[in-house]
Amino acid sequence: MRFFFVIGSIIFTVLLSYSAFAIAFKRESIAMPLLKLNIAVLLALIFYTIPIIFPDEKYSKIVFSLYLAVLDWILYLTFEYACVFTEQSASLRKNRLFKMVLFDLAIIDGFSILTNSFTAHVFKLQAVYEGSTFSYWAIHYEFFFYIHAFLCYIMALSTILELVRKLLRSPKIYRKNYQILLIAFITTLILNALFVTFGRITKINYSVFLYSILTILAFYFSFYIVPAEAEITTFSQITENQESGLLCFDADGKLIHANKKATLRIRDDKRILEQIELFRSLNYDRITREIEFNVVPTGRFSAEKRLFLEIFRNIRDSKNRLIGSYIKFDDITDERKRLEEETYNSTHDSLTGLLNRKTFFKRMCDIIRNDSTTPRMLLCTNIKNFKLVNDLLGEHFGDELLKRQAEQLAAIKMNDVIVGRISGDKFAILMNKRDFDEKEAVKDTQALQDFIKGINFKLHVYLGVYEIADPYENVSQMYDKALLAIKSIQGDYDQSISFYDSGMMDSLADRKNITNDFVSALEERQFCMYLQPQVRSSDQKLMGAEALVRWNHPERGLIFPNSFVGILEDMGLLHRLDKYIWEEAAKQVAEWQKRGIDLYIAVNISAKDFYYLDLYKSFTELVEKYKISPKNLKLEITETVLMHDIDLHKTVIDNLQEYGFHIEMDDFGSGYSSLNMLKDIRFDVIKIDMEFLRETENTTRSKKILTSIIQMAKTLGITIVTEGVENDSQVDFLTEIGCDIFQGYYFSKPVSVFDFESKYLKDSPA
Ligand code: C2E
Ligand code: MG
Ligand code: MG
Repeated sequence: MRFFFVIGSIIFTVLLSYSAFAIAFKRESIAMPLLKLNIAVLLALIFYTIPIIFPDEKYSKIVFSLYLAVLDWILYLTFEYACVFTEQSASLRKNRLFKMVLFDLAIIDGFSILTNSFTAHVFKLQAVYEGSTFSYWAIHYEFFFYIHAFLCYIMALSTILELVRKLLRSPKIYRKNYQILLIAFITTLILNALFVTFGRITKINYSVFLYSILTILAFYFSFYIVPAEAEITTFSQITENQESGLLCFDADGKLIHANKKATLRIRDDKRILEQIELFRSLNYDRITREIEFNVVPTGRFSAEKRLFLEIFRNIRDSKNRLIGSYIKFDDITDERKRLEEETYNSTHDSLTGLLNRKTFFKRMCDIIRNDSTTPRMLLCTNIKNFKLVNDLLGEHFGDELLKRQAEQLAAIKMNDVIVGRISGDKFAILMNKRDFDEKEAVKDTQALQDFIKGINFKLHVYLGVYEIADPYENVSQMYDKALLAIKSIQGDYDQSISFYDSGMMDSLADRKNITNDFVSALEERQFCMYLQPQVRSSDQKLMGAEALVRWNHPERGLIFPNSFVGILEDMGLLHRLDKYIWEEAAKQVAEWQKRGIDLYIAVNISAKDFYYLDLYKSFTELVEKYKISPKNLKLEITETVLMHDIDLHKTVIDNLQEYGFHIEMDDFGSGYSSLNMLKDIRFDVIKIDMEFLRETENTTRSKKILTSIIQMAKTLGITIVTEGVENDSQVDFLTEIGCDIFQGYYFSKPVSVFDFESKYLKDSPA
């Protein structure tokens, strides 16, 4: 028996020494009380074992006293430990006074026990022999032992109460820890009491082993089991309500934890667990994938396809052994949608849904450079006078028109075709050259007219085409070239499509120079009015002149209107030049009037003047300012001006005529609806361009038409002027068919006012 006890003692001594050593390195607050308890138990074990190995009476008495004294401390320290273990510092503070009392009592009791060797007031030892060999020390307890025992039980009870209190208050998951300690402690106490009571039977009191076990248990609970459980519990609590779904697996792939989201996932996505097997078999420590599956949202019945970002990870220990794995997945449907929306918004035009400028150029760049051998065309469209559409029909209508055009363009379904809205009414299309059909392209673009059926407005869409020569050229430069092709036909109603050629670049530079120089040129009076005489057919008497502008450019010399009038009109600047020339003309008429010369000057009005200026106001103010007769300031309007908004223009023209102005229809016959115009507007004069005759293949036929037009005009009381008259035969023919007035090089080229006066008015006083 003794032998086994000694072996047991040695084992527990080793274990306790180990735990004391381990605790010494811990930093937690529980470490100190536990270390003290551990040492006390170790001492108790040693003190109790010594008399068993060396049964000398004198020493045994002393050592047994030490053992009993240490028992006080074991119980006191157990209480201290329980306080820290259950509630850490808070509990200690609460029990401070009680603890002090216990501490003092333990000291007094310990002292009382230590003096037992001299007084024998606590216990007496009596050696029991089996035969002649020593068997064990029988202990006879004296009165003071019961005081000691009482104190011990008070301390033990305090510990029990502390643990019970904590047990009742703790969440269920933590109770288990306290329960085990409590049961272990109570068992120890009961066994201890039994050993004390029935010492004679057991001969040896094993309760010191129980204290050892209790201490080692406390050690494990304090540092390993409780924290680990707390960690797991807290972890589960945190993951439970996480936005992410989490599935944890042990090393064998068995599911050990699934939070709420993951549980739903297992319900909705039956393949998930198979997936884990697959991931594990792939032997990658990290796998990320996007996966879509149907989810039934809470409170609804119908499933909804949602997108998830899923990360599978293996967890390994420091020796790289697999200890588990987990899958974390997040619903990224909304985020992806938002991202896609953002990307869409930043890459597409909000009105039409087509690619925006930046993205169109980027995609175009990718397409033409990825396959640089395929010949391609870049097309761009522009609606003529789109600003006018907006002004006249409203911006909403303009928007609808653009949407309609975008729809038409987006409907082009060919390989590698991309369509974008570059700006305002300008769209761009990139297509393979082999898919490009000029006729179809024009037909498609003009189909927009259908949209405004029933509205008296002619839509004209220009198409500029650039055949991509070098795929590595800057893409926006390619676009500029397609646009340049459009510029070359802008203002022309007969042409809808134009192909870029390198000469256009030069004229672009020209355009820029002209617009840049215009304002200062006007201020510096570089523009001057030339006059081209108009003579009566019957007697070739000078009747008046047409005012034709010339630009006396300081560097480029005399520039003719064809080089700048169109450009200024595009740039919205021509009305300023026109006003200037009209005033020059009015001034001139006034001056002649003063000199008694009755000559008129015909001035040109361009299409946009009708929109930029109040023509009625401009001309009436002018004649009033210079006190001239409106008859002497004739107004030339080309037929094309009247192709749009005829009703609007008609009112202005009627008013001007009412005031006394003569309205001339310039370039009669150059457009398609000259006769129609005659029906709508009471022109005073029609001006036929000789080009009308020259350009026609069948001259005789043209002459016949012209003859009948003139006859018809005559019946309407309209005066006929023919311009571009260059030779005798023309003069004869025109006279024969009834033309009233001639204008042309035959008589004179347009000349400066000075030359005009010196040639025709030299007899009139200046
Ligand atoms: P337009 O109003 O039809 O003017 C007649 C053009 O025919 C003038 O050209 C004139 O020089 C030219 N011409 C006259 N007789 C003959 C001839 O016998 N043979 C040939 N081949 N040509 C002849 P110009 O001066 O170069 O003006 C061209 C156009 O520029 C004008 O055509 C007119 O539309 C416009 N323009 C000229 N000045 C002004 C202006 O002050 N304001 C506006 N808005 N346009 C103007
Ligand atoms: Mg004219
Ligand atoms: Mg003309």
